[in-house]
Amino acid sequence: MLWSKTFIPTLKEIPEGAEIPSHVLMLRAGLINQVMAGAYTYLPLGLRALRKAERIVREEMDAAGAVELLMPSLSPLSLWERTGRDKAFGDVLIRVELKRQNRKVNSVLGPTHEEIVTDLVAHHISSYRQLPITLYQISPKFRNEERPRFGVLRTSEFLMKDAYSFDTSLEGLNRSYEAMYRAYCRIFDRCCLAYIPVEAESGPIGGEASHEFMVPANNGEDKIVHCAACGYAANLERAEIGPRRPEQPAVTEPAPLERVPTPGASSIDQVSRFLNCRPEDLIKTLIYLADGQPVAVLIRGDHEANENKIRRALRAKEIQLADPATIERVTGAPVGFAGPVGLKEKLTIIADYDIQFMRNAITGANEADTHLKGVNLGRDFNVERFADLRCAQDNDPCPRCSGILRLRPAIEVGHVFKLGTKYSEALSARFLDPSEQLKPIIMGCYGIGINRILAALIETTHDENGIIWPVALAPYEVVIVPVNVADEKSREAAFQLYNAFQKENIEVILDDRDVRAGVKFKDVDLIGFPMRVVVGERGLAQGNVEVKWRWEKAPQLMPLDKVVAEVS
Ligand code: ATP
Ligand code: MG
Ligand code: MG
Ligand code: MG
Repeated sequence: MLWSKTFIPTLKEIPEGAEIPSHVLMLRAGLINQVMAGAYTYLPLGLRALRKAERIVREEMDAAGAVELLMPSLSPLSLWERTGRDKAFGDVLIRVELKRQNRKVNSVLGPTHEEIVTDLVAHHISSYRQLPITLYQISPKFRNEERPRFGVLRTSEFLMKDAYSFDTSLEGLNRSYEAMYRAYCRIFDRCCLAYIPVEAESGPIGGEASHEFMVPANNGEDKIVHCAACGYAANLERAEIGPRRPEQPAVTEPAPLERVPTPGASSIDQVSRFLNCRPEDLIKTLIYLADGQPVAVLIRGDHEANENKIRRALRAKEIQLADPATIERVTGAPVGFAGPVGLKEKLTIIADYDIQFMRNAITGANEADTHLKGVNLGRDFNVERFADLRCAQDNDPCPRCSGILRLRPAIEVGHVFKLGTKYSEALSARFLDPSEQLKPIIMGCYGIGINRILAALIETTHDENGIIWPVALAPYEVVIVPVNVADEKSREAAFQLYNAFQKENIEVILDDRDVRAGVKFKDVDLIGFPMRVVVGERGLAQGNVEVKWRWEKAPQLMPLDKVVAEVS
């Protein structure tokens, strides 16, 4: 490809609204262009990289025995109602009302395709002889993400590889799951991503076991814990807690309990204003109404995973939770507020945190317009403890060995689930076993965000000058830069190289633009082609060109006729 014949709109400045390196670099290198929040055009270079990631995924899926098909983005809402996922997905599900002559068709833009593929299998598979099978596709997915951000890391429309396995037994499911898990490792290895597979929650997809493939990165929106000693790794939402540390005895006498009038105050902000202290010094209090009996949950952490754990623990005890909207209505504050105003009877506080911390904390009193200061849990409230209620933290003991856990942010690039029979039962996907018994098909599902492969790679592999592509994903493997295109000899040598690379099937782009060499070098580093070959008049006089790998500091001089062999 000649630079002048393609379309590479690089940018000098950091585009407005781009906060993280991958987003900035993808925009600046002319890989993508924003159409609206959460929707991007892939420009020619970005598309080439995307297609390469897609090809790697496809090759490994095929090698693992999965069979490709393509399902439509549009599907009838009725299918989603049969599994209850119209509700489970909530606002994330994009509904479309199609107008056809004099009737309306309620449809959905697929956020994933379990319903559609299970319905397909329900209609065409009926015997154990047709199983097992794993079907996959690479297709756009639509999610009305509450907060699309970070460029193509989180968009409303994205490209996903989604695979679905269908088996007759749990052992079969385990084999299919294993095969996908291994294929995922090969895919992310080939994409040169430094990933960690972690134990994960299965979320609205539902199911029994799941792993996420995580790329540790400062700007990752997930949090994972990892033990370098034994390899234990889990999403924070799921992480087990290591052996409990002995409680520190109180050093001083506990402070007396004080009642503080806080007329009209309910939210953390309001209370902190009343008490003239920082909001973060207030304990977050969540209130749940259990069996008509108010239950308060106090937590210190500020991570959503804490709340999820508490919810799960309460659910496991069959305690009915008030929905967050009710909590918000009662308290006039989003979940994570200070005052259980107006609740009757005594509170049961379910907590697991350092009791000492409660000393200076303010919490809701069981009374309107009042808060408590100097709360001492055991003394002032009933305390019921759940061993694993606290979130794992950095430096916590590992639950599996004597090592310690490291907590770090990460980007989820892939996810595998053992689904079981949730979808096959809801959509009547059954098979006759050898003894003519009708049984539900046992399913697994497996997703990879193709766009996120690129963003995660760039997020973790760049320097101050730009992207550093691995050969496997680079839009072009080699860029040839004639320093002075007006010089006939340079042009000739550049084209000679260009043809030689093409003959070897090496993807090459020739920067034939008549601009200053400095401009070219900046663009070339920004885009990050793995190999740069500079053809200069002086070197050429000796028959040499300058070759530099993007990840190396210094170029090397090389005879013109040796260059192609260096890459191939
Ligand atoms: P997240 O936790 O980041 O919201 P998810 O768990 O909802 O992702 P899955 O339903 O597991 O996502 O989908 C499979 C894969 O699709 C994810 O591992 C991720 O790589 C990709 N993906 C999910 N949502 C998006 C999005 N909004 N934009 C780009 N890729 C996405
Ligand atoms: Mg999501
Ligand atoms: Mg997730
Ligand atoms: Mg997921």
